[in-house]
Amino acid sequence: MLKIQIIPEQCIACGICAALFPNNFDYTDDGIVRLVQTSANELLVEGPPNLPESQKKCPTHAIRISSYKSQ
Ligand code: SF4
Repeated sequence: MLKIQIIPEQCIACGICAALFPNNFDYTDDGIVRLVQTSANELLVEGPPNLPESQKKCPTHAIRISSYKSQ
């Protein structure tokens, strides 16, 4: 599994993450990143496997993707 963390305070509303991964990232009315499936700022997801690309593409490091192993 992958853990997505977003830091909305660092988002500059560039739109890259939602353009690349519309099933995972969306925007508030102000254009600031939010997660599609939750109002929280982190979420465990099964994929897609290339989701770490979102972290690399975000210009302000407002997205963190890490591997998550359940106990
Ligand atoms: S890529 Fe980063 S800066 Fe751009 S909208 Fe997404 S979270 Fe915000």
